[in-house]
Amino acid sequence: MTKASPIALNIASLREQIAEIATQYGRRADNICLLAVSKTRSACEVAEALAAGCRHIGENYLQEALEKQAQLKDAAIHWHFIGPIQSNKTRDIAENFSWVHSVDRLKIARRLSEQRPESLAPLNICLQVNISDEPSKSGFSSGELTAAAEAISRLPRLRLRGLMAIPAPEEDPQRQRLSFAILRELRDAVQAKLPEQNLDTLSMGMSGDMAAAIAEGSTCLRIGTAIFGPRPR
Ligand SMILES: *Cc1c(COP(=O)(O)O)cnc(C)c1O
Repeated sequence: MTKASPIALNIASLREQIAEIATQYGRRADNICLLAVSKTRSACEVAEALAAGCRHIGENYLQEALEKQAQLKDAAIHWHFIGPIQSNKTRDIAENFSWVHSVDRLKIARRLSEQRPESLAPLNICLQVNISDEPSKSGFSSGELTAAAEAISRLPRLRLRGLMAIPAPEEDPQRQRLSFAILRELRDAVQAKLPEQNLDTLSMGMSGDMAAAIAEGSTCLRIGTAIFGPRPR
């Protein structure tokens, strides 16, 4: 028997915590995806997370992600792109990921749809929302969200799945919940306007605010530090 790696132990302990918190809020843990965020981590560390049962892997930087994908090309991984998107990078993203959480402009959505290969299933996307409407942050403002979602829902090679947000860091759990509640309400509002879509995804919650996100209905926790340890940079 080899000793369980720290990554495997972290994942086991996170799964227990998620189950406990979900139960506390009357939710089922199997409706909550644990997305292992592996920016700055090696392909080897990603393989350890996969061996511990994490098949959803999130990457922020395209070049880094493509290198890991090449090293892990036979692995049964669902790759999620969660970082800022430059328009000259959309082709590689459309060709090499099954999810994109950080769609923040109509132009990006159009390009992803045009460039998604016919041989692959439609690309699952979440619209990133700038919930605090901070001018320096990327994401749709709450005011422009519904019109953008309507336009994007008509793009043939995308499947609009829901919303994503990265709230400003906040220590107080009650205030963390407020931001996530706003995202949930926005999702419900967009869903009401687009009844033919199935907006089943709320991509919210990271290592420092996971419990608040679960309390407010997160279906996808994006967890880096609590799985892989503190990042070197
Ligand atoms: C890095 C990152 C995460 C993970 O953050 P941790 O605090 O390490 O869990 C989640 N989402 C996005 C968009 C990130 O860039």
